[in-house]
Amino acid sequence: AIPVITIDGPTASGKGTVAQRVADKLGFYYLDSGALYRLTALSAIRHQASLSDEHALSKVAEHLDCSFVGGDVFLAKENVTDAIRKEEIGNTASKIAALPGVRHALVGLQLRFRMAPGLVADGRDMGTVIFPSAILKVFLTASAEARAERRYKQLIGKGFSANMADLLKDLQERDARDANRSVAPLKPAEGAYILDTSNMTADQAVEQVLSWYAS
Ligand code: C5P
Repeated sequence: AIPVITIDGPTASGKGTVAQRVADKLGFYYLDSGALYRLTALSAIRHQASLSDEHALSKVAEHLDCSFVGGDVFLAKENVTDAIRKEEIGNTASKIAALPGVRHALVGLQLRFRMAPGLVADGRDMGTVIFPSAILKVFLTASAEARAERRYKQLIGKGFSANMADLLKDLQERDARDANRSVAPLKPAEGAYILDTSNMTADQAVEQVLSWYAS
């Protein structure tokens, strides 16, 4: 079977960076499942779909015309790598991700990322729902403050404006939404290793994941 490593965790826990580096080290494919929810959010906004119309949003997800080239993300032919990272899109993504129809519509697309020689998948439900038979499951966390600070630096680095107090509030709201929704709530998968990265560099977290994989 093609090996899958799942890395789940709350927003800005560093799972994107860690998952990408683990994939690079192993020569595996990488799935940023959050990007699919963000792309659905952006596409829904572009199509002026109502954010309470589950059926319309599910159709948007089902017909998502996206591609991943190098580190870039495309919606149809448009490069939306930076556009989908905006806070507004993240918030909308987290709202529509609570709709079962939207989640269901994205399952097949996610499964197709499992290709030889292997896959590292990051998100909220990679280990619990999408790849329950993964060979290694990791649940990455960090304190809300550490995560808000990371998100702040990320946004400023991309040239967006940001405010720590607002970020912390948004992040806590999103955590609550992700943890309390009825479908695929954020929680460690059975058998997952818990890794708290509050006081860890990304490279240290990568080393830990690789040593779990090797053992
Ligand atoms: O990880 P990221 O912040 O890019 O994800 C955006 C939103 O998409 C999250 O807040 C979460 O609600 C949703 N999501 C999800 N399941 C995943 C990945 C992301 O519900 N596997």
